[in-house]
Parts: sequence; C-alpha cells; structure tokens
Amino acid sequence: MALKAVIGLEMHCELKSNSKVFSSSKNSYEKDANVNISAIDLAFPGVLPVLNKECVRKSLMMSIALNCSLPEYIYFDRKNYYYPDLPKGYQITQSHDPVGVDGEVIIECNKEERKIKIHDIHLEEDTASLDHVFDSSFIDYNRAGVPLLELVTEPCIYSADEAVAFLEHIKRIYQYCDISDADSKKGQIRCDVNVSMMEEDAKELGTRVEVKNINSFSSVYDAIVYEINRQSELINSGRGDEIVQETRRFDEESGTTKRMRSKEDAIDYKYFVEPNIPKYKVSKEWVEEISSCIPELPLDRKKRYIKEYGLSDYDANIIIKEKDYADYFEKCISLGMDAKESANWIIVNILAYINKLDIGINDLFITPEKLKVIIDAKKKGAISSKQAKEIFVKVIEDKKDPIEYIKDNSQISDKEELIKIIDDILLKSESQIEAYKAGRSNLFDYFVGQVMKNTRGKANPVMTKEILNEKLNG
Ligand code: ADP
Ligand code: MG
Repeated sequence: MALKAVIGLEMHCELKSNSKVFSSSKNSYEKDANVNISAIDLAFPGVLPVLNKECVRKSLMMSIALNCSLPEYIYFDRKNYYYPDLPKGYQITQSHDPVGVDGEVIIECNKEERKIKIHDIHLEEDTASLDHVFDSSFIDYNRAGVPLLELVTEPCIYSADEAVAFLEHIKRIYQYCDISDADSKKGQIRCDVNVSMMEEDAKELGTRVEVKNINSFSSVYDAIVYEINRQSELINSGRGDEIVQETRRFDEESGTTKRMRSKEDAIDYKYFVEPNIPKYKVSKEWVEEISSCIPELPLDRKKRYIKEYGLSDYDANIIIKEKDYADYFEKCISLGMDAKESANWIIVNILAYINKLDIGINDLFITPEKLKVIIDAKKKGAISSKQAKEIFVKVIEDKKDPIEYIKDNSQISDKEELIKIIDDILLKSESQIEAYKAGRSNLFDYFVGQVMKNTRGKANPVMTKEILNEKLNG
C-alpha cells in the first residue's frame, strides 16, 4: 500500500510596529531585558488594553494579500491558561472572528505552481520570553504584548519541500508588504507543524502529530522528514495504532522529535470575548485604502522579470528572494543598466560578498549608482572585465568612490591620445627606427616598451601595436 504524508502548518510572525499591540511600550529588539515594558504588559491590576490601529491595518493587509474573507468587525477573545510568561493568566487573541478566513495562495515548488489553502489568520499578543539557566529561570517582558499574527493552513501540504516553499513564500510577502521583517534569526518567526500519514486512496485523514515551536525553516524540513519516516515505519511494521494525537518538540541536536504531551491532556482555554476592547468596524473604504497599498508581490515580480527582462527562471528566483535584492535590481534598471548584466552582477558578485560578510544588500558600500560606474567603464573598454571585478572588491574594502579607482587604473584607449604619445616617442628614436627598418625586427618590442614606460603601463596594448605597425610598416 502506498502511503502519503499530509501536513498542516501554523506560522507565527511578529509584526513591525512602533508600539505593542495593546500598550504604548516600544516594539523593538533590545539587548537589555525588561526595558520595553509598561503596567499593561506586566498586567498590573486595573489597567486597560488599547488596540493599536497600525497592527490591525497590517493584519488586514496580510489577510487581503492571501485572498482571505475579512470580518465585519475586529474584536478579540481571551484564551485562558496559566504560565509564567503570561502575566495576565490569559492571552488576548482572536478565536471566533479572526482577521482573515478561507484564503488561498499560489506558491511555486520545484518549478510547479501549487495552491495552498489558508484556514485562518488571527492577530494576538506575544508572551514574555523565558530563559532557563541551571536551576533558575529568567523572564524578559520586552516581548510581552508584541503583535503576533498566526496563520493556519488547511491540511493540504504533502511534502517537506512544499512546506518550506510555502513558508519562504509567506515570509517574502511579509517583507514585501513591510508588515514584518520576518527574521528567523531574531525569533520573529515560529512554526508548528502537523503531520499525519494516510493511504493514497483513503477517504479520511490519519492521526496527526503536532511538532511545536520550530525556529527555522531548515528545522521545519528536518522535523517533517523525521515524522514521515517515524510514522511510516510504525505503520509498515503493523504498529500504526501507536501513532497518537500528541504534541512533540523538535530536538535540533539529534534531528529527532520527542513527545511532550498527549492531546488528552489538552487544556480547555474557555474562550470568551475580551470585554475591555470595543469592537472596531472594518469599513469598505479602509479595506480599499489598504488594498491599494499592497505592492507587487514576489511571484508576480518574478514572472515580470522573466517576461520583460528575459531573466532565466533560476536568476529571477534568486533576485526576488529578498525584497531588498529585487529593489536593488530595479534601481539598476531605472538607472539604464542592462537587466541581465545587472542580475548577473548581483547574483555572482554582490550576493557572494554580502553572504560572506553576513550583511544586507543595503549595507553594502556599492550602491546601484556606484556599480553603474564600474560596468560603464568596462563597457567603454576603459577597464577589462578582470579589472572591473578587482575594482568592485577594492571599492567595498577601501570604501572609495569607484571613479577614483577607475582613473588610476584606466587604460588609454583613445586613439588620438595614443597617436600623440607614439609620435613623440618616434620623434626621439631616429636611430632605432633606422635599425628597425634595416631588418632588426625585434626592435618592435622596444617601441612598445617605450610607450608602456611613458604611460606607466596604461596604454591599451592592442591599439599601441596597431598604431606602431601603421607608423613603422604602413
Ligand atoms: P490545534 O488547535 O490543536 O492546533 P487546529 O484545528 O487549529 O488544532 O489545527 C491545527 C493544524 O493542524 C492546521 O494547520 C491543520 O491544517 C492541521 N491538521 C489538522 N488535521 C490534520 C491531519 N490529519 N494531518 C495533518 N495536519 C492536520
Ligand atoms: Mg496548534
């Protein structure tokens, strides 16, 4: 019997905003613990949350970008449970009427398009963060109340490849719309993966296992592959009933998943409508205004780069990978640079360099304007391709304007200028000319040498030989 895997994802992403979702504390990353905090984040008695409109706006934007149905009103629910990272004893979230339901998004996986269905997207507050050191625990409330958007897919993903392609795609949409930096390194993205196995032609889904709180896409991939293997082995050895609905965690070191708790121990959160936040009407005008601010999304950009600029699928994929790369590329084009050549420079030189330094493309000293100076100089023949690459590295390392460097290095390729230099030399070389004409043909190299000496090696060698040939043998 053929088994197939079924996967559903829950992706949490912290939104970018000036202040937190229900308080005026700053929403920013700090090295120091407990600096972005207020009485609301710490749940002092009697304090009241105030909804941050910018967070609602960004959540609606994501919901529209993923073709979800929007609610008529924004309101919240209380999810009641106790944990030390949750000072109120409940989390303000959306359960009854989330900011988006029944969405869908087209992604590309292994060059094929796939439609992934979104069950819902809801806005909630993040918890504080806990750090366990030996027998002590430290708590940092900077993260308490940071706006968090949770996206839940339908169980319609069938491989680890597809799951990661989907997550990468969603991450890009967050970045392109400037809703979040979606930076896994800063812990802004966390995923839960649900995996079950079923027979190819079965009508019902198999029992799912949930692997919680995975911090990187590569771990999502590994956790899914591990679960598929673990569950397949159990089924194939007749022990399928050992697969129970449970919550597991992924252990990065061993690359395995470990049981945390069974679903039977699941707490009843006793959801009810959060009474301290009034309902907020989602008007048609507001939705239209938000929709008009959604920029061209990554997959559309990719298709346009292929169609308009003739980029290959491979190159276009790399350029759209980050919005900053795509913006850099488009800036090159707006400066009149050749699209394919710009893409090539970005992929071969720039990305290799920024990856090596672990910096963003916008932190690179070479802006599109500076890159243009180098490419133009190469086109004019003032510098060779090899020199262009050397200058590229020099400019970054010395933080020097390319124009200065090109002046220092530029070849003399102006014919008039070279003729003048050569005429001067020949005028002073009467005896050598005579000897050359009398048969000492190896003196030709002597003249070339003189030109190089006079120009400190900058004369274009091919042109120099051509002119000398005309003058001496023509
Ligand atoms: P919970 O609150 O326990 O996390 P949900 O109903 O919200 O449960 O489902 C969470 C996720 O589980 C969704 O992404 C959904 O697609 C996925 N899921 C549900 N059933 C299955 C299944 N049989 N196999 C794989 N994933 C599933
Ligand atoms: Mg869940």
